[in-house]
Amino acid sequence: MREFSLEGKVALITGGGRGLGRGIALALAEAGADVVVASRTLGELEAVAEEIQAKGRRALVVTGDVSVPQDARRMVEEAAGWQARLDVLVNAAGVNKRLPSLEVTEEEWDWILGVNLKGTFFVSQAAGEVMVQQGGGSIINIASLLSAVGIPTLAPYAASKTGVVGLTRVLAAEWGPHGVRVNAIAPGYFRTKMTERLFSDPEWVGRLKRQVPLGREGFPEDLGGAAVFLASDASRYVTGQVIYVDGGYLATREA
Ligand code: NAP
Repeated sequence: MREFSLEGKVALITGGGRGLGRGIALALAEAGADVVVASRTLGELEAVAEEIQAKGRRALVVTGDVSVPQDARRMVEEAAGWQARLDVLVNAAGVNKRLPSLEVTEEEWDWILGVNLKGTFFVSQAAGEVMVQQGGGSIINIASLLSAVGIPTLAPYAASKTGVVGLTRVLAAEWGPHGVRVNAIAPGYFRTKMTERLFSDPEWVGRLKRQVPLGREGFPEDLGGAAVFLASDASRYVTGQVIYVDGGYLATREA
């Protein structure tokens, strides 16, 4: 179906150097997009850029810290200046640390909210400016199960990811009239560096697999379909939504 094609589009993926951001970057390239990958680690970005080029697409690397608004704006400007357009932004840069709420420090709170929520907002603000002027675009925020349920030891992360859903709805309302769509993907449990420690516990993995109707954890390539859908014209009448890609985990309970 031609509507799913991203040919001629330019996409910026924050957190594109590894994990879910890398998986989404490769999926968008596969669907035809030229891709800009952004994070703080040049070596990881360069490796992903090579993988994108191997698919016959153009790739650009930009480095910076999304939690610093000046960096966020510069990264968007570099991405949008590359081919004089920016069609897709995926806010996948994110951090987490599991801590009982009684032990969370101000520094930890500011770090997690700074990257996940403040970063998502200021990168979106800079990209929204370009997209509104351009008359269209698609922003995809990466939310979480923690946008919908409470799990112990994840207070700052849950606050940030619930906030991301709020931003998604407000920006969809503000920028919809300009043809800019804003949606979120909420992944379940995926194997990445962020979840390495959880997945090193075989008992936890066994319990997870029993609780997920599709019987397994997620892998970064499992997000590609949802990301291509939301980035492409196939989703032209979809905005302000959250798509849970979690193997059915959130919607179900063991009997
Ligand atoms: P990951 O492998 O640790 O990747 C995180 C990415 O974010 C890296 O590229 C990292 O690069 C980048 N990043 C972190 N801090 C940054 C900063 N200040 N500025 C710019 N880039 C920064 O984790 P992941 O699992 O792929 O997570 C990606 C997103 O999915 C996050 O938003 C996470 O909350 C969300 N998520 C993950 C899961 C899961 O099960 N894995 C589930 C739900 C949601 P540098 O450190 O080099 O900057």
